[in-house]
Formats: sequence, structure tokens, C-alpha cells
Amino acid sequence: MIEPFDKPIYFTRPLLPDLTAVTEQLRDVWQSGFLTNNGQKHRELERRLREYLGAPTLSLFVNGMLALSAAVYALKLRGEVITTPFTFPATPNALALAGITPVFADIDPDNLTLDPERIEKLINPSTTAILAVHVFGSLCDVEAVSAIAKRHGLRVIYDAAHAFGARLNGQPIASFGDATMFSFHATKLFHTGEGGALAMTNPDQKISVDYWKNFGIKSEEEVVMVGTNGKMSELQASLGLAVLPLVEGERSRRKKIRSIYREELGEVPGIRFIPDQPNVVHSHQYFVIRIVAKKFGRTRDEVQQSLQHYNVFPRKYFFPLCSNTAPFRHHYSSHPGRLPIANHAVTETLALPYFGALTDEDVRRICSMLRSFARP
Ligand SMILES: *Cc1c(COP(=O)(O)O)cnc(C)c1O
Repeated sequence: MIEPFDKPIYFTRPLLPDLTAVTEQLRDVWQSGFLTNNGQKHRELERRLREYLGAPTLSLFVNGMLALSAAVYALKLRGEVITTPFTFPATPNALALAGITPVFADIDPDNLTLDPERIEKLINPSTTAILAVHVFGSLCDVEAVSAIAKRHGLRVIYDAAHAFGARLNGQPIASFGDATMFSFHATKLFHTGEGGALAMTNPDQKISVDYWKNFGIKSEEEVVMVGTNGKMSELQASLGLAVLPLVEGERSRRKKIRSIYREELGEVPGIRFIPDQPNVVHSHQYFVIRIVAKKFGRTRDEVQQSLQHYNVFPRKYFFPLCSNTAPFRHHYSSHPGRLPIANHAVTETLALPYFGALTDEDVRRICSMLRSFARP
């Protein structure tokens, strides 16, 4: 008999620093009297994150979505941009809001990231860029994407909302492509409640990004472009400074949780994992399994519902597929017949509870529940 949890267990839980660590940061803000506009906490967090991420440049934002829009703006994209349907709506929305048509290419069957082999067929004279997403912590094939972009004179943006601190062959993930976006939403490993950042590879472009997020204002006397308001406040930056020292501890705790999930579920027919990638330092953003209904004897949706009876709330992630949503489903590239792998993957993936406050015992109990649902 497996006991349900007393309190609901969600698929993630924000990393909450000790409140005194937050108030310590806030005390400085109160003393300065500056609540926003590139204040002391903003400058400190920007510098510390640039170092932590090994990013060539970094600009903080009020959220990740606007950081992505800034990249689209700074790289002067237009026409069509090739992207993945297996992502959060922010990715195609940043393109569509700028009047660009997102063109969807199918994904890799194992890593679930944009499949480079599918990109080239979709390139036409209107194509200006590739917007690829690092999914759950698995990295895109950045080398193949760069090679295609180079051949066709395209820009490359990475949505690294799931890849905070990830590295490939020792190289920071923000060192690839023209621009890399990070999200600091509360559900992300490192967060500022709401927040985000953009790493531009070309330092000149950081300058225009910083004007753009401040209404196009260059100085008290000079407005140089049309911009928006994307500034991170001192309150968000203070929270970030209190969260940052906890990130490595959280990451290693998640690593342990991941190994328990893998050990306990590794032999269960019909449960598949996302494979580890060689030479990659994983961000540990999510732990996602795939339920192969034919072998497991239950569908992913049935598994999700059954877990809810035990007070466990995993998430169908990503769901729905962006190419099947109202804003995008009418485009030719969205036809499910053109995206068979992505359309199949969204029926199988399930993000399990994955945060450091889970005990080993909690994780083992969730695994017992999952094993008990199998009907091979
Ligand atoms: C969270 C997320 C975003 C959006 O970031 P916000 O900070 O919430 O605006 C974009 N893309 C992906 C893949 C995400 O998971």
C-alpha cells in the first residue's frame, strides 16, 4: 500500500533563500533610495551572472520573453525564422510579435531539440535566422546549427531558458551563436521571481540591447531608437543575489535525485529517459520521462491522472505543441504530417517533481507509485 503525500508535490518549487539573506540585500536598496534604472544591485547581479555564465556580454531583463524579443530586434531579423515546435509559447511569440513568421522544423527523436537535418530544407530567400532551444537541459547540436547558419548567411539565437550554467566541451553555452537568452522565472533553476537575461556575442550589440530595454534612451539628452521597457528592478536583482549562492547546492542535490529516479525506474518497461549527452555539463532544469504506452500499458495522460490521486502533480511538458496552437497551426510548416517526431513526443513526455527539497524517500515513493501503474 503506497500512501499519498499529505501535501501536494508539484513538478518544481522555487529555490527560496533564507528571508534574512533577502532583507540584507534589500537594506542596501532602501539606503540607496534607488528602486530601478540600472541601480547598484542590477549592476552587481549583471556582473556576477556574466562571470558565472561565462557569457561574452550580458544584459538583464524583466523577464526572459523580452530578452528574446531584444535579440530579434538587435539582430534585425525579419521574414522567416526556423525554430522548433517543441518549446514554450514564448519562443515563437517573440518572432510573431516582431512580424516574423516562425517556420517549424521537426526535432531529434532522443534529445527532443531541433533536428539540424530538418532545417536546411526549410530555408528560402526570406529566411533570416535559426532560433533553437536547449530542451530540459539537453543541448542542441550547436555545431551542426552553426555550420548550416554559416552556409546560408543566417543568424543564430538560442533559447537557453532551461540551460542555466550548462557547458559543452567546457565551453559556456552562451558562447555559441549570435545571442543566447536565459529566463529567471520562478520555475527556473536560478530565478529572480520574474526575470531574464540576454548574452550577445558582439559587444556592440549589447549597447543597442541596453538602449532598447530602456525606451531607446541613450542619455538624458538623447533618444536614439524606438524601444520598450524591459528593465530588471532592484527588487528582482536583490532576490537574484540572494538566490545565486544556493544554485550549486541545488544543482548537486538535483543530480542525486536524478540518479535515484534512474536507478528506480531504469528497468521499468515503457519508461524511457532523455539520454545523457557526452561532454555536457547539464543544467538539471527538469527531469523528464517518456511513457511508451504500448509497453507500459498506460498512457502518459493516465499516469499523470493516477499520480494526482497520490497528491503528485507532474507536468505534461511541453504541451501543447506550439505548431498545434491557434496562433500557429495554419502555417504550412505546422502540419502534423511534417512534424511526426514532435507530435509523437508531446504524447509521451512527463516532467516529474524535481527540486532539492524532495527527500530521497519522497523520490523513491514517487517511483513506487509509477511502478505500480505499469500493466505490461
Ligand atoms: C520559461 C521559458 C521561457 C520564458 O521565459 P520568461 O522568463 O517566463 O519570460 C522561454 N522559453 C522557454 C523554453 C522557457 O522554458
